[in-house]
Amino acid sequence: MTQPLQLPKIIHRNFKSGLKCDKCSSFNLEALSSSLAVCLDCRHIDNLERLLRHYFTMLTLCNRPLTLKKKEIHQEIGVQLTSYTLQKYINLLFSKKSKHAQYYTYKL
Ligand SMILES: [Zn+2]
Repeated sequence: MTQPLQLPKIIHRNFKSGLKCDKCSSFNLEALSSSLAVCLDCRHIDNLERLLRHYFTMLTLCNRPLTLKKKEIHQEIGVQLTSYTLQKYINLLFSKKSKHAQYYTYKL
């Protein structure tokens, strides 16, 4: 099996990975539904799509276009999502080269 060449194993960045609360900067977020997340520290409720776009745009601007496997995207987000919700946002925010490709690229 051949591996794609340019995949970073560790993405260099100077901030902790995972979605973060806009109000109190806590990483302690939980999905409320397929579209909302709540901060468990300050109870601030935010839109998941907005948080995800902001987060992956930040990563892309700090590094390079992101190419990740589905599992790695989920790890990166740091919030437990159902497979339905995860797939929903991957379809919305990422693209892949072919139907059967394992790697997704963030669409800036
Ligand atoms: Zn908060």
